[in-house]
Amino acid sequence: MADLRLPEYGNDGSGEGSPESDNPQTGGMVRIAETFASIQGEGKLSGVPSFFVRISGCNLRCSWCDTPHASWSPEGPVRSVEEVFGEVVASGLRHVVLTGGEPMLFAGAGELCRRLRALGRHVTFETAGTVYLDAPCDLLSVSPKLSNSTPWGDARDQAGSWAARHESRRLDVSVLGRLLELNPEHQLKFVVRAPEDLEEIESLLGRLPRVRPADVLLMPEGVRLPEPESVAWVVRACIERGWRYCHRLHIELFGHVRGT
Ligand code: SF4
Repeated sequence: MADLRLPEYGNDGSGEGSPESDNPQTGGMVRIAETFASIQGEGKLSGVPSFFVRISGCNLRCSWCDTPHASWSPEGPVRSVEEVFGEVVASGLRHVVLTGGEPMLFAGAGELCRRLRALGRHVTFETAGTVYLDAPCDLLSVSPKLSNSTPWGDARDQAGSWAARHESRRLDVSVLGRLLELNPEHQLKFVVRAPEDLEEIESLLGRLPRVRPADVLLMPEGVRLPEPESVAWVVRACIERGWRYCHRLHIELFGHVRGT
């Protein structure tokens, strides 16, 4: 495994600048937080055995991020796409999940996606949908960030600079709309905290190309299984709108631990 150090610029995984021109993780190299075989825990393919490639680095800093080792404190060695591709193929698993962090920031994610699909692998690309990358996939899994994600007052962001950046970046309706149109097989997973979030979701959906209700998923926030009262209002909202409730099967099966 190559253990190259990134240039100083971009070491915080912030994705500053243009991903295509400035990001140092181009030329077939990408920082990898972790790779593992497990079952998909969320969304339409929940329960499907899959190989996960978690790319390190994110342009956002969600207050409730459950993978801070790929966002707030990006970890992992910089590896060649060739090497990661070989590891995925060797797993023998047909379903592959490219996740993060924000994989759309890194050209290597697009390259990996194309090579795996050429080999007949099914690729799910998980993203917050704020950055465009040419990476056609089999399932685009977008998790647009609501205002409940902004880390106001977060101890990890004493100066508040990340909160301001996060708030200005967390939604880009034109990028999101373009990604949805280019990837007709998609799902929108919303992390929700309170019933007030529903209005925000409906407002966003009203600004996007038509999204099928069955492609909208609501997932109660948390790294533990939700309390019954959280489940109740989310289920009710799904029934009323034709949306789907999104369970976190991996949390139920394994708890909140890495590599699952
Ligand atoms: S976009 Fe995803 S990886 Fe980035 S901070 Fe938010 S939850 Fe974490």
